[in-house]
Amino acid sequence: MNGSLDPTPAVLVRDLAFRYPDGRHALRGVDLRILPGESVALVGPNGAGKSTLLLHLNGLLPGKAASLHSHGADGDGRQTKTPSVWIDGLEVNARNAPEVRRRVGLLFQDPDDQLFSTSVLADVAFGPLNLGKSRADARRIALECLERVELFEAADRVPHHLSFGEKKRACLAGVLACEPSVLVLDEPTANLDPRGRRRFINLIRALPATKLIATHDLEMALELCGRALLLDGGRIVANGLTRNIFGDPTLLEAHGLEMPLSLMIGKR
Ligand code: ADP
Repeated sequence: MNGSLDPTPAVLVRDLAFRYPDGRHALRGVDLRILPGESVALVGPNGAGKSTLLLHLNGLLPGKAASLHSHGADGDGRQTKTPSVWIDGLEVNARNAPEVRRRVGLLFQDPDDQLFSTSVLADVAFGPLNLGKSRADARRIALECLERVELFEAADRVPHHLSFGEKKRACLAGVLACEPSVLVLDEPTANLDPRGRRRFINLIRALPATKLIATHDLEMALELCGRALLLDGGRIVANGLTRNIFGDPTLLEAHGLEMPLSLMIGKR
């Protein structure tokens, strides 16, 4: 607790700006606060800055590229050291990076970016081993997580022989094996067939962690997330109840999105 009645946010981002080394501004003063246990959708057109924002949540980006804060940065884009991202009250910086990465589970859009071992079990056990668990504990945790994603039978298979849907679930097991308090999911349903999508949605729904889900699948966002953030041009342009944001066709169209069919026909 932070002394007030509000709980410490699971994710707090203050005035975060970021530009890539080629000078392209990807984030321009992003503010957001996610409370423990919330599920929040991050939506916006391609190039809005969603992936860039997600990568900041576990400190993957600032070390690799030029980062600046609009707050306190001068006109020529000089960097400042003002912290701008906190996870469970912990500032995301080089010193805290290992703990932040333990707390934030990032599921990449492309499972091939995440799978690298010679067996599914080894892949899922990698995280716990890396966190200092014994081989026996890491194996037990990995098998439990494979069970949770309904992939227990695939433990000894070669990851790149799995179907796309199985790969996604193997990646999710790998993320869960590190017991993150915040789950950051980048396009979790992209390229899944309807059955695989439904299965994945149900798995995500059952997870108790705080969730931030970047997606173009607005129907999934409606199902899983009470609140939505609309990002465009590196700025949060709307933040509110998912139903309200997705129920505003003018707002959606202005930012390259369309009202989900279920809202259009009044099914939700
Ligand atoms: P989204 O995930 O919403 O599609 P991104 O975060 O991928 O948006 O991109 C935000 C902006 O940053 C875009 O203008 C994109 O072209 C740019 N960008 C993304 N990655 C890089 C990179 N590695 N180098 C330079 N510019 C990048």
